[in-house]
Amino acid sequence: MIHFASLEAAGLRVAAMSDKSDGDCSNRPEAQTTVARFLKSLSVPPDTLVRLRQIHGNRVVEAQSAMVGRHAALEEADGLVSRESGRTLGIGVADCTPVLLYDPHHKAVALLHAGREGTLRNIAAAGVRTLCKRYRCDPAALRAAIGPCAGECCYEVSAECAGKWRDAGLPLRGRHLRLQASNCIQLENAGLLRHNIEVVPHCTICGGLFFSYRAGEISNRNLVVMML
Ligand SMILES: [Zn+2]
Repeated sequence: MIHFASLEAAGLRVAAMSDKSDGDCSNRPEAQTTVARFLKSLSVPPDTLVRLRQIHGNRVVEAQSAMVGRHAALEEADGLVSRESGRTLGIGVADCTPVLLYDPHHKAVALLHAGREGTLRNIAAAGVRTLCKRYRCDPAALRAAIGPCAGECCYEVSAECAGKWRDAGLPLRGRHLRLQASNCIQLENAGLLRHNIEVVPHCTICGGLFFSYRAGEISNRNLVVMML
């Protein structure tokens, strides 16, 4: 696993992401023992975890008690927010970009699943907006981390998809999407300060440390968690 050190240094109890050595941490019922073991290794009680049925959109919802411990009939969304102490937010990824937001003053967090579609729909801005509206956060005070994902070294897409990306004003290198750079720009456009954004420079496709959909791990997931 890796830790998002800048967020934990700012006071967040846990901000981490499982890797291959932690095992499959997907939503599948047979993965739940592995998920519990990963959480315990972080001293996170498994019964505090809220997850989503991720649908590559930009809907952000508040983590509610009623959403804890459910593996079936999960809420359909791609972002979670909370300011409840002891609540754990979880997002499963395998090449998509995890975006983590933390407000040390209001003790509020957001966790976003920003893959190709989510980034096109600017879920980063949706997460910032939700934090500001619900909890009166100030974007300039938010700390962010952009996690390991499909890197610009490997993430080549069709000409059509690259065109959509260009039309949205997002950066590319040839037909290679730049997911992390795009989310960084979107966060800055939403009012975050560049020095408050940590980018973890790791490509999930060629790096070998994490499960990667493009590298053939179709159903396994890395789990990103944040606990307040
Ligand atoms: Zn790569």
